[in-house]
Amino acid sequence: MVKLTIKTQAKQELIDITDRVQRAVRELGIGEGACVLFVPHTTAAITINEHADPSVKEDILTALGKLVPAGPYYHHAEGNAHAHIRASLLGHSVTVPIAEGKLLLGTWQGIFFCEFDGPRQREVWITRA
Ligand code: ZN
Repeated sequence: MVKLTIKTQAKQELIDITDRVQRAVRELGIGEGACVLFVPHTTAAITINEHADPSVKEDILTALGKLVPAGPYYHHAEGNAHAHIRASLLGHSVTVPIAEGKLLLGTWQGIFFCEFDGPRQREVWITRA
């Protein structure tokens, strides 16, 4: 397993980790198959989406903010229930196919770590699928 450490800088942000995941796949020596990326946190997530146009990640954050606004009406006493819910909506793992040692992503796809209650030090765990 490879553990990536990610220091997030903002309350919420999407961080493109595609290049770091590709390096981890090389380190793991996976030639053919797939890898699983797992986020061991409850207020962060991982997703695959367009990384050619940076405004897409801003739109995702804006839409999630409208879908699940912060507010005083949640039961969770820590005050970050909206971050837990946004993280669950996007999910805590993705599987990516690999061929000839390379991540098989679509032309426009990138892998994003999603922070919803930062800034914090976070991890992404990468294993052979
Ligand atoms: Zn909480």
